[in-house]
Amino acid sequence: MDSDNRTNVLSVSNDSELGSYVNASKEQVDKAYEAARSSQKEWGNIEIYKKVDMFNKVADELLDRKNDIAKILSEEIAKPIKDSLSEVERTALLIKTTAEYAKTLRSESIDGDSERGYKKNQKLGITRKIPVGIVLCISPFNYPINLSASKLVPALIGGNTVVFKSSSQGALSAFLLAEIFNKYLPRGVLNFITGSGSEIGDYLITHKEVDIINFTGSTQVGEHIRQISRVPYLLELGGKDFGIVSNKANIDKAVSEIVKGAFSYSGQRCTAIKTVLVQNEVYDNFYSKLKESVMKLKVGIPSDDVNVSFLINQKAADYVNSLIDDALSKGATPSWERKHEGKMIYPLLLEVKDLSTRIMYEEQFGPVLPIYKFNTLEEAIEITNKSKFGLQGDIFTDDINEAFKVANSLNTGTVQINAKSDRGPDNFPFAGTKDSGTGTQGIKESILNMMKDKLIVVNL
Ligand code: NAP
Repeated sequence: MDSDNRTNVLSVSNDSELGSYVNASKEQVDKAYEAARSSQKEWGNIEIYKKVDMFNKVADELLDRKNDIAKILSEEIAKPIKDSLSEVERTALLIKTTAEYAKTLRSESIDGDSERGYKKNQKLGITRKIPVGIVLCISPFNYPINLSASKLVPALIGGNTVVFKSSSQGALSAFLLAEIFNKYLPRGVLNFITGSGSEIGDYLITHKEVDIINFTGSTQVGEHIRQISRVPYLLELGGKDFGIVSNKANIDKAVSEIVKGAFSYSGQRCTAIKTVLVQNEVYDNFYSKLKESVMKLKVGIPSDDVNVSFLINQKAADYVNSLIDDALSKGATPSWERKHEGKMIYPLLLEVKDLSTRIMYEEQFGPVLPIYKFNTLEEAIEITNKSKFGLQGDIFTDDINEAFKVANSLNTGTVQINAKSDRGPDNFPFAGTKDSGTGTQGIKESILNMMKDKLIVVNL
C-alpha cells in the first residue's frame, strides 16, 4: 500500500491531527472486489448459527471498547460525547438483534394448483433465500458506526460479502468498526476501503463486481447513484421533517420533543425536525416556551456535556449561514441576535412569514429552526407535502381523529404522533418517499433486501 497517499483526519473542534486514511487507488478497489468475490461462496455456505456467534462477539467487543470508540467518534465528527457513546451502544444491540432475527428466516413452499391446468399435488415450489452476492455499503459522516453496521450486518448475515466505504470524515471510527468485524470474520468477507467519494465513488459504484448498493447520504449523491448504477440499490437520503403543532396539542410535550428533535447533534440528523408549523391559537404560547427551552441549550466542545457543537466543516456552516441570510432578507424574525464563529453556529429560531424563504424547504443540517404560523390543518398538510423530501413528519395533537387525518395525509415514509421524528426502534420499517430515498430498511426488511429468492420446483 502506498503509505504516502494518505489524507489526515483532523478534529472538527480544534484541527488537531487524529489519524489518517489511505486514498485507495483503482487497483486497491479491484483487489477489494476480488477478495469479496473469491470469499463469497464459502461465506454464503456457513451455517447461520455460526454467523450469529461471530456477530455476537463483534457486538460484545464493541461494547467492551465503547469508551475509546466513542471518544474518537466524538472528536472526528464533533458529536457530543454522550451521543457518541449511545451510538456505539445502540449499534451493539442492533448487531445482536439483526443476527438473531436472521435465524428466523425460512424457506417457503407453494402448492402449484392455484392456476388452471395444474393438478393437485402435481407441483410443489420451494423458495429459498439466497445471497445477492457482493454488496457495496457506503455510509455518511453523521453516524459512522451505526449507519455502517446497519448495512454491514444485514448484508453479511444474508451470506453476501461486502466492500465498505465510509464517509471520509468518520473513516477513523469506521476503521475501528471494520477492524472488530474482521477479527471474527473470515478474511475477504468484509473489505474496507477509504478515500474521497468524489474520487473513487463512481469507480466503486459502477464496478463490474458489485451486485447491489446500500447507500446513506445526501440526496445529491443518491441521485447521482440513481443515474449511473447498473445494479439495484437502497438509498437513504436527505430529510426535511416537518413538525406540525395543532391547536389541540399538549404544548409542553410538543416543545420538549421539538427541541430534542431539532437540535440534538447540532441538527445534523436526517430525521431532525427541520421546519415547525404551529396553528394560530397556540402559536404565541408555543413560541415563547420554545424560545425559553432553546435558550437553555448548552453549546460547546463535543467532549463536554453539550447539546450543540461544531458543524462538520466550514462548507456546512457557510451553507447554514446563507440560509439565515436569506431568511432575514425575506423578513424572518430571529429569536435573538444570530451568533456564529467558524464552524460553530449557535442555536437560532426564525419566525418565517414568507413561504419562499429557502430554509422552509432546504435541508439546513444545523441548529437553526424555522417556525411558521398556519390557520387550518389542511394548510399545514399542503405546506408539508410541497417539500421534495419525504422522510418523516410529526403531528402534535391530543385529538386522535386529527392525528390520523394528518398521518394519513402526509406523503412521508413515517409519521410520528406526539413525538419527534426518529429512526427506531430499529425493528420498525424505515423508508423515505420522494427525494428521501428508495427502498425500506429495518431489521427484517434490510436482511430481505440483501437476499433473493431461488425457486426449486418438485414435480410429482
Ligand atoms: P454525502 O456527502 O452524500 O456522503 C455520503 C457518502 O457518500 C460518503 O461516504 C461520501 O464519501 C460518499 N460519496 C460522496 N460522493 C460519492 C460518489 N460520487 N460516489 C459514491 N460515494 C460518494 O452525505 P453526508 O454529508 O455524509 O451525510 C449527510 C446527508 O446524509 C444528509 O443529507 C442526511 O439527511 C443524509 N442522511 C440520511 C439518512 C437517512 O436515513 N435517510 C441518514 C443519515 C444521513 P466522502 O465522505 O469521501 O465524500
